Amino acid sequence: MVAEHSLEGAVSIVTGAGGQIGEGIAVELAAAGSDVVVADVDVLDTEYNQQSSREVSGATRAREVVDRIEAEGRRGHVAECDVTKADQVQALVDETVEEFGKLDILVNNAGIITVDPVEDMKEAEWDSVMDVNVKGVFLCSQAAIPHLKESEGTIVNTASIAGTIGAAGLGHYCASKHAVLGLTKSLSLELAPDDVTVNAICPGIVDTPMWNKVLTPTLEEDYADTIERVIPLGRDQTPEDMGRLAVFYAQNRNVTGQALAVDGGILQNVI
Ligand code: NAD
Repeated sequence: MVAEHSLEGAVSIVTGAGGQIGEGIAVELAAAGSDVVVADVDVLDTEYNQQSSREVSGATRAREVVDRIEAEGRRGHVAECDVTKADQVQALVDETVEEFGKLDILVNNAGIITVDPVEDMKEAEWDSVMDVNVKGVFLCSQAAIPHLKESEGTIVNTASIAGTIGAAGLGHYCASKHAVLGLTKSLSLELAPDDVTVNAICPGIVDTPMWNKVLTPTLEEDYADTIERVIPLGRDQTPEDMGRLAVFYAQNRNVTGQALAVDGGILQNVI
C-alpha cells in the first residue's frame, strides 16, 4: 500500500448519511471517486434524539443523497440500518460486500443528542445517546474489520469538539464523544499491523437539527449570535468541511489515531 492513494473505485459506507453531515461526507467521498452505501434509519426505538420523535425519516432522506452521489458519476445505494442493532449492522456490511464486492472506507457518523443535567437525566436518555454514539461505532467497526483488513482500508469516526471538552447539560453526549476518541486511538493500534487506519473528525458547529432543534432552543440567544460569540473565524462549519477531512484521512495512509477539530478555532477560545 502506498502512502497516498486515489479513492477511484473505492467502496464506502457512511452511517447516518440521511443527515446533513453524513450527506456532506458521502458526497465528498463520491466526488473523490468512491461508490457509497448511504446507511440510515426511518424509525428509531427511542425518542431521545434531535428529532424528538421515533420517526426520523433518515432512510427516506438517504434516497435523495443517492441522487447526489450518482450526479458525481458514482454508484449510491441506500441501506436501512439502525447502528445499535448487531443483526442490522451485519446485514449492512454483508449487503455492501455482496453489491459492491468489497469495503474500503467505513464512516461511523450516526449520532444523537439531547440536553439535560445529569441530575434530571432519564436512564433511557443516557442509554440512547451511548448506544448510538458509542456502541454503534463499536458494532459497525467490528462487522467491517474483516473486510477492511482485506482492502487495507480506513475507519473515520465523526466525534465532536465535545470529545475533548465538557458542557453543562451534555454529560452523556460529552462522555459518548470522549469514548469515540478513546476507541479511535485504541483501534488505530489494533489495526495498524493490517494497514488499516482509524481517525476521527471533531466538528464544531454545523447548522443541522442537532443545533436548530436541540441546542439553540436551550440557549438564550439566536444561532447567529452563538456563532459570533464562540467561533473565532466568525462562521459556522459545513457538512462539506467534514467530507473533505474524511477524504483526506482516506487518502493519507500514514495518518492514524488522529482527531482533528474542524471548528473555526472554538477550542482555542478559552478566554
Ligand atoms: P443529523 O440529525 O442531521 O444526522 C444524524 C443522522 O443519524 C440522522 O439522519 C439520523 O436518522 C441518523 N441516526 C440516528 N440514530 C441512528 C441509528 N440508531 N442508526 C442509524 N442512523 C441513525 O445530525 P448531524 O449534525 O449531521 O450529526 C452527524 C454527526 O455529527 C453526529 O455523530 C453528531 O454527534 C456529530 N456532530 C454534529 C455537530 C453539529 O454541529 N451538527 C457537531 C459535532 C458533532
